[in-house]
Amino acid sequence: MANGNLKLAIQKSGRLSEKSLQLLRTCGLDIENYSNRLIVTTRNYELDLLFLRDDDIPEYVQDGVADVGIVGEDVVIEKEADVEMIKKLGFGKCRLMLAGPENEDIKEIQEINGKRVATSYPKILANYFRDNKIQAKIIQISGSVEIAPSLGVADYICDIVSTGNTLKLNKLKKYMTVFDSEAVLIGNKNIEKDSDKYSKLKNLIVRIESALNAKNSKYLMMNVPKDSLERVREVLPSLKSPTILPLADESMLAVHAVIPSDMFWEIQKDLHEAGASGLLLVPIENMIL
Ligand code: ATP
Ligand code: ZN
Repeated sequence: MANGNLKLAIQKSGRLSEKSLQLLRTCGLDIENYSNRLIVTTRNYELDLLFLRDDDIPEYVQDGVADVGIVGEDVVIEKEADVEMIKKLGFGKCRLMLAGPENEDIKEIQEINGKRVATSYPKILANYFRDNKIQAKIIQISGSVEIAPSLGVADYICDIVSTGNTLKLNKLKKYMTVFDSEAVLIGNKNIEKDSDKYSKLKNLIVRIESALNAKNSKYLMMNVPKDSLERVREVLPSLKSPTILPLADESMLAVHAVIPSDMFWEIQKDLHEAGASGLLLVPIENMIL
């Protein structure tokens, strides 16, 4: 499809699909119902969405089949793709961990020397062993890595751990973190040479940054007696000065401020004690700093 549109690859069906679409919609892209199509053009932006298997995305971006892609950092590193890591996206977080029998305890990474470790991430594990100067045998397995120790195929495993329930079922426990991953925006290394596409990409990045900033912030509104204003201001984070508006009741003011999402529950009691009332916390859709 040589229509000059920016081509963005996202996971067709899996853990990252919904969140990737959600992020793009928050960026203001009008994406029609894609119902199993490979390529979808957005209605209000010069962008084609390519729905692909996540494992194929790094290589397609490297080869220019897609200009950019959203994929797990773990997959990018594992595929050793030569692409630009543009931005971490704050979702699809997961942790690759070294794990092994419950009745063993590994405190020093050196204890892995000479052992066999099963994983479906041989490249990431090899990097980890190289960085830590470990000599161990990597057994590559494509699925159900957690059964390898009980089959006698390996001594330990290196796998994505979320709740730890799968480990427990297999009488294994976590030892140490090998790699922290999240969804990332990756780009083809030659995109700068196409100035038209490059400017579309820069615009997309601004939109993504605005959506991510907004996700991390909330808009707080409250009523404050005039003589409590200073105390309330002391409680508010000092990122930006708040907006202060008069109210019909002349002894009162309305105070509005943008605060980090996770801060509200820390400061709401202090705000109350400082004299604020009628606290209203609302989401922000986009925020350009
Ligand atoms: P397939 O290739 O068969 O479509 P997959 O296992 O590669 O499946 P998903 O399971 O959808 O694909 O995972 C996609 C990405 O989501 C992973 O590469 C990883 O970055 C991220 N992820 C986040 N949490 C988890 C988790 N608990 N388990 C596995 N991956 C996770
Ligand atoms: Zn996959």
